[in-house]
Amino acid sequence: MRGEPCDARVRPVTRQQLDVEPVGFTEFTILDSVAQAGEFQPISPDISLCDDCRRELFDPSDRRYRYPFINCTNCGPRFTIIKDIPYDRPFTTMAPFEMCPDCAKEYADPLDRRFHAQPVACPTCGPQVWLVDKGTRHAEPQSEIDRARRLLADGKIVAVKGLGGFHLACDATDDAAVSELRRRKGRVDKPFALMAADLESIEQFCEVTAEERTLLLSRQRPIVLLNKRNVNLMSEAVAPGQSAYGVMLPYTPLHELLFQPSSLNPHPLVMTSGNFSEEPIATDNEDALSRLAPLADAFLLHNRDIYVRCDDSVVRVFEGHELPIRRSRGYAPYPVKLPFNVPPILAAGAELKNTFCVTRDGYAFLSHHIGDMENYETLKSFQDGVAHFERLFRIKPEVIAYDLHPNYLATRYALERAGREGIRAVGAQHHHAHIAACMAENGLRGGSPVIGVAFDGTGYGSDSAIWGGEFLVADYRGFERAGHLDYVPLPGGDVATRHPYRTSLSYLRMAGIEWAADLAPVGAASAVEQAAVAKQIESGLNTPPTSSMGRLFDAVASLVGVRQSVNYEGQAAIEFEALADKNEHGVYQFDIEPGIGSISAAPVIQSVVADVRTGVPAPIISARFHNGLARTVYDVCVSSRNCRGLNEVALSGGVFQNATFLKRALDLLRAAGFVVYTHRLLPPNDGGLALGQAMIAYAASGM
Ligand code: ZN
Ligand code: ZN
Ligand code: FE
Repeated sequence: MRGEPCDARVRPVTRQQLDVEPVGFTEFTILDSVAQAGEFQPISPDISLCDDCRRELFDPSDRRYRYPFINCTNCGPRFTIIKDIPYDRPFTTMAPFEMCPDCAKEYADPLDRRFHAQPVACPTCGPQVWLVDKGTRHAEPQSEIDRARRLLADGKIVAVKGLGGFHLACDATDDAAVSELRRRKGRVDKPFALMAADLESIEQFCEVTAEERTLLLSRQRPIVLLNKRNVNLMSEAVAPGQSAYGVMLPYTPLHELLFQPSSLNPHPLVMTSGNFSEEPIATDNEDALSRLAPLADAFLLHNRDIYVRCDDSVVRVFEGHELPIRRSRGYAPYPVKLPFNVPPILAAGAELKNTFCVTRDGYAFLSHHIGDMENYETLKSFQDGVAHFERLFRIKPEVIAYDLHPNYLATRYALERAGREGIRAVGAQHHHAHIAACMAENGLRGGSPVIGVAFDGTGYGSDSAIWGGEFLVADYRGFERAGHLDYVPLPGGDVATRHPYRTSLSYLRMAGIEWAADLAPVGAASAVEQAAVAKQIESGLNTPPTSSMGRLFDAVASLVGVRQSVNYEGQAAIEFEALADKNEHGVYQFDIEPGIGSISAAPVIQSVVADVRTGVPAPIISARFHNGLARTVYDVCVSSRNCRGLNEVALSGGVFQNATFLKRALDLLRAAGFVVYTHRLLPPNDGGLALGQAMIAYAASGM
């Protein structure tokens, strides 16, 4: 072969002098894989179509010309088709396809690019696509995909079976189609991902930096968050209220064929997961045909089964490196190298954006994105996933780590299973786990504590309050709460999370500001609701105290009039960030009392109200808020350094997806000489939490 395959990883090369006679080997052969009890092998993530296969795909003289399942040792499905190890065809969903003589020859030839490529296939022997349109099955070889393209061009919604599940696709420039997709899917504003033919096409509607280009073209081909161009042809309904689009390039041959030949000048497509909001993405044909029937006008199906459901990954580029938002297809189950050799642990993860994690030896295997654990289907997907990972990596957990929130389904699973199987269970406080995850992915051994800044929407605190604006002096073994946002009552709990004006009313009361009719949150609540909220704040009934930073963002966004109610998590904060004026350097001052760790947002609320009343534009207010929060991070870290002599800071939690805030906080901390750790491998949000839980369980169990 021409050197090492691009996705090969050389693990340590060792040499050893043997004082024995040569035994007489004369040639180099690769033996058949043999399953060894207890042994594991790393499993490759799925890999996007390689350049060689792409060339063959569009070469009319190639026997795989326009064959939607072309692949080789350098590309193709892996994780999503593997049922067990060793990674050989009989243990994949390619098992039912018997290789034709041509494919078998390539597969057996060490000099061929398809040598031991388990999913190798061709039009003669491999999987096929077909289109189901109004219940009629069309199966003219080669023309199925063209038929789907015509439907898309006509404004239809097509369910397309992909690598890790179904997408719902439609023309992204077609307002009626995109709005119809929103209506059918029950998704009001949450942005849709886009897929475009090539980089040139993406550059027409987004700004693309060199690093972003590299990431778009990488073998993972994730959805990359890219700044929108002011003028572009996309429907307004693709990503309302956002400054960025999530965009990806075609990553399977089937996707490529949806866009080629480019002479037809195909528009970018919305490619959103094939499900109703909240449910897991559909993976098998029958399931899709029934569950997605109300959503799609037609189905582009194929008969290569998907064994593991795997959503697209979402990444943004920050300071030239990756900042993951969702780590799934293309990344999972590639492991994170740990700073220690860790025994087998299962960490169950969080409730929203769940991923779980299993460890063995020096590795943590983070799962694909499981999703929000709010229904039976997702719980089932979680349980199947855990069983699959334990089998794949030959892990029998000795400890199970869980979040302290008693109502998280993952927590209930962990405790139930630990009880049933007599496994030790270790609870990990949510924000402690965020910081531990950040430490672990940065390879910290935890010899000395860090100043952990954990800002997010919701996490169960050790005092049963809802935490989320936390400064923790932490190592893997434990933490001390060095400071936090002052508690405010959250009127109605989850109701307030969906309706930021309620949190805003609570903050106004805390800041001693009257609920005057000129203020947006007051206008958003009827007199009856205002009375109810006032009563809840006074009585504390169904009104938990919270130090959540996400809720403070909500409150300010509401005051500025950005949004009074949300229909997806983080919406108010995301839209508020999108407004921030990059050139504004003003700062809202928090009231910090380092001795008792109290951080009050009251003066911030007062300043915001004053600015709103004097007509200061929202982008200026947004910038001042972001600047003030970054300043607070800096101030608290400096005072922690002064009294404890710590110089390392770890930033984690969903709020650190906010690049505007992250950038400002980092600049201040670095200028003051802090060593700052951020996420590059795992999301700062709850999708990375399981790694931290595993590390805490490891430290707590004294192993
Ligand atoms: Zn290839
Ligand atoms: Zn074949
Ligand atoms: Fe969190």
